[in-house]
Amino acid sequence: MKAGKANTSPEITVFFDSSRCIHAAECVRGLPEVFDVTARPWIRADHASAQELMEVISRCPSGALQFENANGVPEIPATPTTFRLLQDGQLEVRGDLSFTNAGGETMFGTRAIL
Ligand code: SF4
Repeated sequence: MKAGKANTSPEITVFFDSSRCIHAAECVRGLPEVFDVTARPWIRADHASAQELMEVISRCPSGALQFENANGVPEIPATPTTFRLLQDGQLEVRGDLSFTNAGGETMFGTRAIL
């Protein structure tokens, strides 16, 4: 399942899935001129370079933020897959991931919080 397209610039398309956001604020700390929750739209991809956007979006632990470059190529998954236990007991996972829910729906991604 692909997150909704949130914003785009000529070099990059940013996707955001609010249902996956855990409000870790990596985005607003990393690029406040792009990710501004007081603005509408709250993501303004044309306020930073594609390289800056890719770097900050990759920090989003939940995968709520994703991107594709101008050729439609998404983020390259981390290898090897990593698991990091957070202080609140949640597990941050990074890698070439697929998730299947109880209803049999499979989703793919590169970052997730479990
Ligand atoms: S970095 Fe990701 S999880 Fe954190 S607030 Fe931004 S979108 Fe949500």
